[in-house]
Amino acid sequence: MEITKEEIENIREKFPILRRKVGDKDLIYLDNTATSQTPVEVVEDINYLYTHTKANVHRGVHTLSQEATDLQEHTRRRVQGWINASSFEEIIFTRGTTEAINLVASSFGQRFREGDEIILTVMEHHANIVPWQLLQSRTGIKIRVVDINDKGELDLDQYRSLFNDRTVFASFTHISNVLGTVNPVKEMTRIAHEHGVPVLVDGAQAAPHLRPDMQDIGCDFYVFSAHKMYGPTGIGVLYGRKELLESMPPYQGGGEMIKHVSFEHTTFADLPFKFEAGTPDFVGIAAFAKAFDFMEETGIDLIAEHEHQLLEYTTEKLLALPGVKIYGTAPDKAAVISFNVGDAHNYDVGFLLDKLGVALRTGHHCAQPLMERLGIPGTVRASFAVYNTFEEADRFIEALKRVIPMVM
Ligand code: PMP
Repeated sequence: MEITKEEIENIREKFPILRRKVGDKDLIYLDNTATSQTPVEVVEDINYLYTHTKANVHRGVHTLSQEATDLQEHTRRRVQGWINASSFEEIIFTRGTTEAINLVASSFGQRFREGDEIILTVMEHHANIVPWQLLQSRTGIKIRVVDINDKGELDLDQYRSLFNDRTVFASFTHISNVLGTVNPVKEMTRIAHEHGVPVLVDGAQAAPHLRPDMQDIGCDFYVFSAHKMYGPTGIGVLYGRKELLESMPPYQGGGEMIKHVSFEHTTFADLPFKFEAGTPDFVGIAAFAKAFDFMEETGIDLIAEHEHQLLEYTTEKLLALPGVKIYGTAPDKAAVISFNVGDAHNYDVGFLLDKLGVALRTGHHCAQPLMERLGIPGTVRASFAVYNTFEEADRFIEALKRVIPMVM
């Protein structure tokens, strides 16, 4: 399966931002791991909703409010179908992956006690570390950390060995935002469940590139962000198994999450609304449905295949350049390439590449423990989306060839 030139041109037509310039250079956008660009269908939908159907959801009997509510709930069912959740009640809208993990740590975490242990991995994004540390400072739980091997794969033997009578939770990323490693989350969930331990999978980097199937993975919680999957900013999803969500206390209090409020006694709304206090970004949520349309029309398998080809093509060219070292060489890897050039600082390389129109990420990528493990302050990171082309990969390599003599 290969994406044709015509198909890619049609896809790129939907992303006007790809036609802009940076200085006098054509933009080459290779920072898709941080956020992907948004197709016109989504942008036009946001525009249409603001100019046509803006009304608060779940509140009014009037037509506009009903329409807005229907649109928001349509997206909920779209998400449910996309990830194969059993019920729409298992789909909670949040501000992003970060808020979704904080929700689980704050709410589910209330049952943890001093000395209880949770398992994380060394490749986690700060969003899947710091909420647990905040919980640790409140409860005295212990955090155990799974290491990686030289290729950037998790040490599954060590993971297995970390479970004991005190283990109460495991939380790990599906795909590393630095190494690109695709973790065996189904197997890891199975191991945790053998010990009766619930699991959260951070799908922020997986949801844009594959179709995570909740029944297949079997995890208890799965989280992701719309802005990384061609959708609007400020919206995320928490999938949670219904019986667990039902057993959890609310995360925030406010409007929409209650059945009845009195100063004596307040009762809470049913799922999913119990976890959605206050007015959500209902315009963004409604428009998020169009991002699923885009991915479905393009074909998630085609997206994955094209990105994989870009990964292989660019990796080979990068490795032929003097002084380039790539971090993360797992055979099962997403289209993320973290690298350094000799002893050059990642920031200098990124800064010079920007002057040549190439937008990519530098620094620790919100994964400082991983950087410490690798013994480096940071990397330069190129990451691909379906709209990237082999010509862009070539131009990135040509730009890097110009930069290397300047920094080495
Ligand atoms: N987890 C991973 C693996 C990520 O890559 C990111 C975003 N870089 C996050 C969590 C946080 O996502 P957000 O900022 O959208 O909440």
